[in-house]
Amino acid sequence: MLFDSLAGQMSETMRKLQGSDKLTEKNVESSVKEVRRALLDADVNLKVVNSLIKDVKARALGEKVLEGVKPGQQFIKIIYDELARIMGSEATPLARKDASAESPTVILLAGLQGAGKTTAAAKLALYCKSEAKPRRVLLCACDVYRPAAIEQLKTLGASIDTEVFAMGTDVEPERIAREAISYAKKNKFDTVIVDTAGRQVIDTKLMAELKRVKNSVTPDEILLVVDAMTGQEAANLTRAFNDAVGITGAILTKLDGDTRGGAALSVKQVSGRPIKFVGVGEKVEKLEPFYPERMASRILGMGDVLSFVEKAQEQMDEAEARRLTQKMVEAKFDFEDFVKQTEMITKMGSLGGMMKMIPGMAGISDAQLTAAERQLKLARSLINSMTRSERRNPDLLIKDRTARSRLQRIAAGSGRSSKDASQLISDFQRMRTMMARMGKTMMDGGPGAAAP
Ligand code: GDP
Repeated sequence: MLFDSLAGQMSETMRKLQGSDKLTEKNVESSVKEVRRALLDADVNLKVVNSLIKDVKARALGEKVLEGVKPGQQFIKIIYDELARIMGSEATPLARKDASAESPTVILLAGLQGAGKTTAAAKLALYCKSEAKPRRVLLCACDVYRPAAIEQLKTLGASIDTEVFAMGTDVEPERIAREAISYAKKNKFDTVIVDTAGRQVIDTKLMAELKRVKNSVTPDEILLVVDAMTGQEAANLTRAFNDAVGITGAILTKLDGDTRGGAALSVKQVSGRPIKFVGVGEKVEKLEPFYPERMASRILGMGDVLSFVEKAQEQMDEAEARRLTQKMVEAKFDFEDFVKQTEMITKMGSLGGMMKMIPGMAGISDAQLTAAERQLKLARSLINSMTRSERRNPDLLIKDRTARSRLQRIAAGSGRSSKDASQLISDFQRMRTMMARMGKTMMDGGPGAAAP
């Protein structure tokens, strides 16, 4: 491990000489290409890709390269974190009015034909009915152009025991929506989910109609239903709907397919609104909350980029473990060092957390860890009763002729037995010897010394 630290210092120097101790345009170049390709493969809109990479690069350049991590890998990790952050912030729950509200919560679904609106309406109804405080949901069929859509909603509604409000195809959709709200008020429904018509392509007539429906019912939530396979077009689609009616969020459907879901990023980047749910199958129960990190992995999952991210994480952990190990081996180890180190361990959460990061210690059992943690506590209480000079000079408690009486005093002061105190001293001696030996082995080319 000492050898490792020397090697580490050398490569640090090399890096400085090459000017690569910071992220630079040059040392992240190939990773930028990789990320760009992954995002495009994931069908993230080209403009979105370019602006994202530009932003992240501007922020990342100049950042210090973490020990043991290649600049390019660090850059990819930064992009990954950024993706999760972008898609994850502002994740707000589905709108729900106060129980005392006079009118029901209105959720309007919009989107292109075939995106999965009608299916999503039923899925959302089932979701609302299954919330911790179940809602009384009314579905409303406003797709007056496709009689089949009304029938489809009725069938879905029946399958989840949910009433569907419909007035056929000869009534203006805004009127159907308005009447559905009155009906809901009268019949004590607290949530109305409105399924609207869609077209193959975005057209002004569809948008005008959607605006009229919106104005007639003032929805609490307008969710854009986007087919994950929409790909590059998701950005334009989002912009058109958002400009027309101002969406509050989106549902990304058909994520059970093999698309990488780049549409999620486009929707979020263009509208600033969160993806609230994802559809993962045709069945009504196939609706899930949106998990930004999962989506970031999925989007970057192309071209082995994700394994880079994992590798970077691993190397960061290893670097941390190396730093700790080096401290242990090099410390001239007195009781003050011991206290400092145990404080560090406590700060890190648990002994287990740290031990598992040290190479070769990963296999330690939970029972062994609990025992070790108990011992640590005992040791600390004994050390608290030592004088400063005893802490700094453990030999006073080992070789000195006053050692015996000192130990008795320490034991009494901490409310422990003399046996506990003697045990601590012999454990401490053993630990010190072991550490010194470990350091020597590494220097002589023992296990670990061959690491690159
Ligand atoms: P609408 O025209 O927007 O109302 O779309 P539909 O709800 O009729 O859905 C169009 C097609 O997509 C139907 O065959 C649905 O079963 C299917 N569909 C909807 N959501 C999903 C989903 O999350 N996964 C899969 N695999 N198919 C879906």
